[in-house]
Amino acid sequence: MSKLHLITYGCQMNEYDSERVAGLLRRERYELTDRPEDADLILLNACSIREKAEDKVYSQLGALKHLKRQRPDLIIGVMGCMAQLQKGRIQERAPYVDLVFGSPAIARVAELVERVRHGRAPVLETGESPLIKITARPEGGDRLKAFVTVMEGCEKYCTFCVVPTTRGRERSHAPAAIVEEIRALAEAGCREVTLLGQTVNAYGRDLTPPTDLAALLEQVNDIDGVERIRFTTSNPYNLTRRLIRAIRDVPKVCEYLHLPLQSGSDRVLERMNRGYTRARYLELIAELKETVPDLALSTDLIVGFPGETEDDFAQTMEMVERVGYDNVFAFRYSRRPGTPAAEMADQVPDEVKADRNHRLLEITGRVAAARSQRLEGTTMEVLVDGVSRKSAAEATGRTRCNRVVNFDAAGRDLRGRVVAMRIARVLPHSLRGEIVSDRAPVDVVAAREA
Ligand code: SAM
Repeated sequence: MSKLHLITYGCQMNEYDSERVAGLLRRERYELTDRPEDADLILLNACSIREKAEDKVYSQLGALKHLKRQRPDLIIGVMGCMAQLQKGRIQERAPYVDLVFGSPAIARVAELVERVRHGRAPVLETGESPLIKITARPEGGDRLKAFVTVMEGCEKYCTFCVVPTTRGRERSHAPAAIVEEIRALAEAGCREVTLLGQTVNAYGRDLTPPTDLAALLEQVNDIDGVERIRFTTSNPYNLTRRLIRAIRDVPKVCEYLHLPLQSGSDRVLERMNRGYTRARYLELIAELKETVPDLALSTDLIVGFPGETEDDFAQTMEMVERVGYDNVFAFRYSRRPGTPAAEMADQVPDEVKADRNHRLLEITGRVAAARSQRLEGTTMEVLVDGVSRKSAAEATGRTRCNRVVNFDAAGRDLRGRVVAMRIARVLPHSLRGEIVSDRAPVDVVAAREA
């Protein structure tokens, strides 16, 4: 067997792609190793969404240079979004990189590695390729949770974002292929799936006949063994009443929605080309809360987008309080080459971005803490997923609203079980639970009704 060392940066989709690559290369007799110094092939699956992510990759490549010097046979490759965006520039900056290939070429990884091996010349593959559902996975797939990409690409053209360039146009996988993949995962012990797409709620529009995410959720709900379904990322522009109702009505779909707002100011939203206004977003939030009262909400926000004034930023802060997010991912705007926003004249200075980011984190932390408090004393379903990170004597799991719950399992192995848990204490980053019954969800429903 040859050895493969995989380094993954970025979003869940990159994690998913890395798994596919490990699975495809396993067929070519590559086994995974944690140690780069033992590897015959090192692949960096690199993110390009913000400049900082790219800087990390170049410094990682710098750290690998000495290995290549010691062992010229070692193959080093960069794959994914950054490869697609930077193309030949990667090999210009790091000439010891043998292979660069973008997301569309992932299905052909084995062939590309062979080309490097036999040709001993650098390979660059960043063109378009047909959509292929790759179901190969690395060995040791006894995981409880898995990501499943249901569509590739993005056609939103937000002015700050490189994704339409790195991942191409929107293309959905056929429902049958997705169901087959999830069925195999469930048979291998998986209990929770997260359906992935850059705009996952645009799923199915491009298929013949067209379908939608709500219909797909129903099909996944019917798969035996799957206990929970999540999906991300949804764009407010494509959020339909049908999908909101599916969150309420499809039993295994968790009451959790990640709905990026990006900015609370209409002026900024327009310059971002987001396709909705603050009022429209609030309308959706009202409908969501009315339809699914237990819903947990999270969002992405960008601070320091070109032209963002103190007043625009105040409107973003105000939206955080008004919506009452359970979790916020705040990003400082990063100028990405080739995007319209990078060319806008009124770039915001770094120190202003840092200050706004700091103020935003203060407020989002306070709002999230207040939201957490409501959980104290309630009984919730928890999918037990292993041992707590802080103490081996403790077990850990997640609620349907995606909160970490640590608890004393009294030595029992409950991994993979959905148990009913009383939330005894709310801590800053987790919950403390006590098992009420290890036969949820029946007991949870009873507890809610009591
Ligand atoms: N497709 C999703 C959407 O637009 O709603 C999000 C995909 S992106 C991988 C995740 C987040 O990164 C975005 O929601 C945005 O907040 C952030 N992001 C994207 N481009 C950025 C940039 N140039 N600077 C800072 N943050 C950025």
